[in-house]
Amino acid sequence: MTRRKILVTGGAGFIGSHLCERLLSEGNEVLCLDNYFTGSKENVVHLLDNPYFELIRHDIVHPFHVDVDQIYNLACPASPVHYQYNAIKTIKTSVMGAINMLGLAKRLKAKVLQASTSEVYGDPHIHPQPESYWGNVNPIGIRSCYDEGKRCAETLFMDYHRQNGVRIKIVRIFNTYGPRMNPEDGRVVSNFIVQALKGEDITIYGDGTQTRSFQYVDDMVEAMIRMMATDDSFTGPVNTGNPGEFTMIELARLILELTGSKSKLVFEPLPSDDPKQRKPDITLAKEKLDWEPKIQLREGLIKTIAYFDNILE
Ligand code: NAD
Ligand code: UDP
Repeated sequence: MTRRKILVTGGAGFIGSHLCERLLSEGNEVLCLDNYFTGSKENVVHLLDNPYFELIRHDIVHPFHVDVDQIYNLACPASPVHYQYNAIKTIKTSVMGAINMLGLAKRLKAKVLQASTSEVYGDPHIHPQPESYWGNVNPIGIRSCYDEGKRCAETLFMDYHRQNGVRIKIVRIFNTYGPRMNPEDGRVVSNFIVQALKGEDITIYGDGTQTRSFQYVDDMVEAMIRMMATDDSFTGPVNTGNPGEFTMIELARLILELTGSKSKLVFEPLPSDDPKQRKPDITLAKEKLDWEPKIQLREGLIKTIAYFDNILE
């Protein structure tokens, strides 16, 4: 077995911590870089005893030099509440972070994977969304710092590949949930579960008919690892998501059923530019990665509820 040296930026975040765990379990050496904006040491504290795990406090906006074989670039706040808190910092993180990681990959001839997002499709006019769809994104709205930052990062990845031969991979991640989501981070799955467990009102934004497709974090990590293992001719972008599509009302009802909670549904204003619908076309992932999600919403929610139940105690 080859022990690879792998850098994971944003490694102390929700998805990053699961990725670090998986890469270590496969016998790799993992360098986890994070500035702890939305992630925390708590998420990776259980890995600190592993001699092949290293935790580094660093902000990806500044260059970082280290000798590695692979880079997973995940550093960026992902929840609207957090990425809108300091919009300029969010776009700097995506754009300058991409430039710094691509520069590093170029020098080292390392493979670099970008955690892109279904947000590149904006409020989509094509449903479900294939990778060939260019999207419908507002360039000047409150979500733009995230959406356009991620779009620009994709452009940079493709340009470094075409111009400098950098070995790149782009995955477009659809809404992902699971244990170690930050209970305060404002995303719908964590909000609804925490509200249900505490017996508080479930806050539905808008009329609750907007849809999302939710994938469990283990499926997502599997897709990223398979993507990194593809040969250099396949750069993506490739969608990773679970095509099961649910309205926010359906999600709320399922969470109420699974928690046995008596919380009431309350309706609050819809944030601006909130996409009406979201569902991945995963034909390309099936073909190129031989991947499809294994964990459906009910099963994934049961695991996630158990996690929140434990931390809220
Ligand atoms: P998260 O907020 O839990 O993790 C992001 C991590 O990046 C955190 O640990 C944070 O502290 C770190 N970070 C932020 N800015 C940084 C900076 N300037 N320098 C260094 N570290 C920084 O979010 P997540 O859900 O784990 O998302 C991980 C990645 O996946 C993000 O790039 C996100 O855009 C992408 N993604 C996530 C989802 C999802 O549904 N969770 C969907 C699409 C894309
Ligand atoms: N949402 C909601 N109640 C909440 C949090 C979010 O109804 O307490 C809605 C939100 O308006 C959006 C969907 O749930 O339509 C998904 O929101 P999230 O922030 O999780 O992800 P994103 O909008 O980035 O897909």
